Amino acid sequence: MIDTIYVEEAAASHPRVRDLLARHSRALVVPISGYGEVFNRGHQSFRLQKRKPSLILAAKRGNLVLEAPYGIGGERNFYFSHVLNCLYDCRYCFLQGMFRSAHYVVFVNYEDFQEAILRTADLSPGEEVYFFSGYDGDSLALESLTGFADAFLPFFAGNLRLVLELRTKSVAIRPLLAREAFPNCVVAFSFTPESFSKSLEHGVPPNEQRIAAAAKLAERGWRIGLRFDPVLYAPGYERLYRELFERVFLSIPPESIHSVGFGAFRLPRDYFTRMARQYPEERLFASPLEERSGMVSYAAAVEEEVMGFCRERLREHVPERQLFAY
Ligand code: SF4
Repeated sequence: MIDTIYVEEAAASHPRVRDLLARHSRALVVPISGYGEVFNRGHQSFRLQKRKPSLILAAKRGNLVLEAPYGIGGERNFYFSHVLNCLYDCRYCFLQGMFRSAHYVVFVNYEDFQEAILRTADLSPGEEVYFFSGYDGDSLALESLTGFADAFLPFFAGNLRLVLELRTKSVAIRPLLAREAFPNCVVAFSFTPESFSKSLEHGVPPNEQRIAAAAKLAERGWRIGLRFDPVLYAPGYERLYRELFERVFLSIPPESIHSVGFGAFRLPRDYFTRMARQYPEERLFASPLEERSGMVSYAAAVEEEVMGFCRERLREHVPERQLFAY
């Protein structure tokens, strides 16, 4: 339930804004000249706002498509963010260190994103170009607000050279089930072992539900990505990850799996400091972490051990060519 909606002047007449306002007719609507005046304001409490975020509707300007720092098999990798922030509240999420505000920002000018995507792809004629949509938020969790999947799935379905990765922890798969699967879309579900998920991923549907959602999509022909990111450490992590991998790979048929990614728990130092200040009681931030080259992570030996363990176990389930470490 959204109580307050800030509307940027430049976006006010956009049909998506009109539609959202009509659907939230009880919300207080506040006109603003630019989304940054609310979103980037100083002295905000991310933690407090997270309890009841407002919605900011804006038009994205400048670089709409940016080079992605990772890939899942393609040479050319980009990301775009139609939304900033997330419905869920994962304690390790870098967004709470990166943004001052927990309000949801939806950039409504999807047609400009699509033009920018086409322009970017034109720079690599004849090549597959990958576009990641879940970088600054969850691709599907806010679907009822954003209508993102409904707008972008037909666009990518009509441009087979462009590969879309939707990255999610949600089970909001209705827009996908409502249409035919197409080969250049990877629906990537992120997992941590259930006990980590319960203590750290607040508001996220249980693993079983997400596995069931991924299995259902696989059954309907969608290509599935599996993401184990961040890989977390605790005594006995081996059993937790072994069980998780067995559960997931038992449910998703190998022929439906596009790629499997796993990534170390790492945060830029400034983000980590802000996050630890917000949640001083959080055990994750009190665990033995160290700083290397401006990034806070587990001690090198611990990181090597857990990443090595996961790589070995994952190789029992998928060929090396489908496995990507971040
Ligand atoms: S689901 Fe992803 S984007 Fe959302 S809070 Fe968790 S880590 Fe952050």
